[in-house]
Amino acid sequence: MNDILIIGGGLSGAMLAAQLLRQPGQRHIQIVEPRAELGRGEAYSATELGHTLNGNAARMSVDPDNPDDLTQWLTAHIAAGGWPESDAQQEPVAELFPPRGLFGVYARQRLAEAQAVGAAQGSTLTHVQGEVIDLQADPDGVLLTLADGSQLHGARAVLATGMFPAARTRQRQSSGLNAAAVDPWDVQAMRGLDPEGRVLIIGSGLTMVDAVVSLEQAGHRGRIQVYSRHGLLPQVRRQPPGWPDFLAADSSIRTPLQVWRALRRQCREAVAAGIDWQAPLDTVRANIGRLWSQASDWHKRQFVRHARPWWESHHHRSPPPSAALLQRLLAQGRLQIAAASLLGLAPAEAGQVAIRLRDRGQALERIDTGVALINSTGIEYDWRRVDRPLPRQLLARGLIRPGPLALGIWAEPDGAVIDAEGHAARRLFAMGPPLRGLWWESTAVTDVALQAKALAHTLVAPGAGPSVH
Ligand SMILES: Cc1cc2nc3c(=O)[nH]c(=O)nc-3n(C[C@H](O)[C@H](O)[C@H](O)COP(=O)(O)OP(=O)(O)OC[C@H]3O[C@@H](n4cnc5c(N)ncnc54)[C@H](O)[C@@H]3O)c2cc1C
Repeated sequence: MNDILIIGGGLSGAMLAAQLLRQPGQRHIQIVEPRAELGRGEAYSATELGHTLNGNAARMSVDPDNPDDLTQWLTAHIAAGGWPESDAQQEPVAELFPPRGLFGVYARQRLAEAQAVGAAQGSTLTHVQGEVIDLQADPDGVLLTLADGSQLHGARAVLATGMFPAARTRQRQSSGLNAAAVDPWDVQAMRGLDPEGRVLIIGSGLTMVDAVVSLEQAGHRGRIQVYSRHGLLPQVRRQPPGWPDFLAADSSIRTPLQVWRALRRQCREAVAAGIDWQAPLDTVRANIGRLWSQASDWHKRQFVRHARPWWESHHHRSPPPSAALLQRLLAQGRLQIAAASLLGLAPAEAGQVAIRLRDRGQALERIDTGVALINSTGIEYDWRRVDRPLPRQLLARGLIRPGPLALGIWAEPDGAVIDAEGHAARRLFAMGPPLRGLWWESTAVTDVALQAKALAHTLVAPGAGPSVH
């Protein structure tokens, strides 16, 4: 029997395996992942050089004990000729925004190194290429059923299933939308569009930024119309200096309104001192998990209703090269952004796509048309709406329950999944994006790296499970 079965081999699954393999002792780990390569997932399978990380190398280490890990790897990789295009950039390596595909190479290499360390202790890691469609807990462990009918048995399992992009899931309010839409990262499909045609994009976050980069790569020269509820574009990421952690220093600041007021005060002080407002904002990031998990449901709702669009556009910032492209297209009048709600699809002539909209603050519906539609509305965090077999089965079996505000699933702070009756599982854990409701920010490279380390320690702790040595 396997010690640990990891479901999903994106960055979370791969980094958890790496941490486990580096722990003393012998263990057998299996990762089930449909993709051919571990460590990539959706984000780091990118093949376009223009699809870059949204943070510079100094912010994207997968080693929580060494923040310079990616910078060091990248420096060696560039020296070996692995990223010739970086020659054109003047910044130090720590300040570069690497292509996400290259980050995938880095993650895989770190996993391979951990595998070698583990092998010296008799540990094994196996990649089973497939999709888990069902999970049952039995007295001896956990039984996974894969789409091809095969089964795997293990002492414990970890849900590292990542994010379910809204662009790839069924949506109640806009059935048929995704069938009519072009994938935001599919440059090849975009090459088939009329290059002068007007393209409609729904959503204005970082996926939209990627979609505009994809259109540019595909040689599109026409107009691009972006619609989102608030019409806010992501801010550009700069490299602000450090700033005192004002939230850690004052534990009386707890509610969203208190945080907002303190942050505004700090930003004003920073700007008055000639320092970027991004410096105080970045200190909020380190406290967001604590603030969110301490908050009442009412305060969480208040944050989601009032502050979320602002948080998303100011915290999830755009890499400078992509931001520069957007600014250029805006200045040329080729890119336009408007605040409107999507109501659904409308009938359209052949070769066209039409959508029904309501502009913000207006009562009347209107229709807009283009040669293509790109759905970049982000992530579907509500597992009840994810049209995949495993989430459906886990809910049907009562092994999971929707997380706070229906964001992801419930779990203990150590990742032990909480079932429909409120009991913490001994054999089923989760990490990364499924824990959105627990931590709010549970997706980025640094979140995943920290959680992988903590969960590995939990899983190998003495007495943690029957067959973990
Ligand atoms: C396009 C994009 C760009 C991003 N850019 C950045 C960035 O620049 N910086 C940053 O910090 N973060 C970024 N992120 C966030 C990113 O999601 C995380 O950094 C990280 O990839 C999360 O890893 P994960 O393994 O939890 O999820 P994922 O990468 O989503 O991987 C989950 C894996 O689980 C597999 N899986 C799901 N269900 C099953 C099943 N039933 N059986 C078997 N396998 C299954 C999937 O195939 C997938 O490979 C980006 C995300 C996206 C989508």
